[in-house]
Amino acid sequence: MASHFHVPETIEDALRLRRELHGAASFLAGGTEVNNRKAKEAPEHLVWLGRLGLGGITHRDEGVSIGAMTTLQEILESEIIHPAIHQATSNHANRNIRNVATIGGHLGVCRSCADLIPVLLTLGARLRVATDSGEIERDLESWVLGERDGIVLSVEVPDPPGDLRIAIENHSRTANDLSLIAAAVSLRNDAGRVRNAIVAVGGVSRTVIRLRPVEAALDGRPLPARHEVEALVAAHVDPITDIRGSAAFKRHLAATLVERALRSAWNQEGCR
Ligand SMILES: Cc1cc2nc3c(=O)[nH]c(=O)nc-3n(C[C@H](O)[C@H](O)[C@H](O)COP(=O)(O)OP(=O)(O)OC[C@H]3O[C@@H](n4cnc5c(N)ncnc54)[C@H](O)[C@@H]3O)c2cc1C
Repeated sequence: MASHFHVPETIEDALRLRRELHGAASFLAGGTEVNNRKAKEAPEHLVWLGRLGLGGITHRDEGVSIGAMTTLQEILESEIIHPAIHQATSNHANRNIRNVATIGGHLGVCRSCADLIPVLLTLGARLRVATDSGEIERDLESWVLGERDGIVLSVEVPDPPGDLRIAIENHSRTANDLSLIAAAVSLRNDAGRVRNAIVAVGGVSRTVIRLRPVEAALDGRPLPARHEVEALVAAHVDPITDIRGSAAFKRHLAATLVERALRSAWNQEGCR
């Protein structure tokens, strides 16, 4: 169980505390994940990020900046957030959890079935991250798949081009449960051919992943028939069997939901 609660007032102090306490400290945002750990797995020191001025959603010249301590409910209620992010956020647990869970914590945990990561990938989001060697900007995919070191300061979501089509699909056992599969896609319809497709899926791997072979196979062609797209997706996901479902069921679900999202995006009238 945690026995020390630190409240740094600066980013530098938060990083220093974590560095000096080595593995004994964990950053704390909303705490939905950190406070959910078994007592013997809990860190001894908690370093709260709530006094670092990391809240708020602002419109910048070319996109929207979401501070890391912004809660998911604030995202849901924001009028300047992309509608696809709204939709993904509304799938996240329930209002009680969304009132405390933050976007920074969501990226800190990077669950396999994280609801917001697929849609953020399709929108080309980038992260501002404070590290021991200074502030850097990171591609979201490199954060999800690579080393997750430092404090996420904000998520930078560029305004999508007007002809980008985005669709999301998810399935969970109950409205309150984690998603079994969360899928998001974006693409352009270039004179009847798929271009620049991004296909991101959660629940089929250790983290959310982009299905790059699927993206490549779709490029430059009209969207193939349903059974072809589903077979393509099923061949490139490798879920595990767990309490929420068998690997075969999740593979089937991923194929169905990704195909549905692709078709929904494909049939949109070039809108945001
Ligand atoms: C009951 C319950 C239901 C849930 N439902 C869902 C769901 O439907 N969908 C879903 O996707 N997830 C769900 N989650 C998972 C998780 O709670 C959320 O993803 C949430 O957004 C985590 O945010 P937090 O602020 O509570 O994180 P915290 O618990 O405070 O932190 C989580 C991790 O992130 C790190 N961290 C926090 N902030 C930062 C930062 N700024 N930079 C770097 N690292 C940071 C912490 O050190 C910690 O390791 C659920 C969890 C619970 C307990």
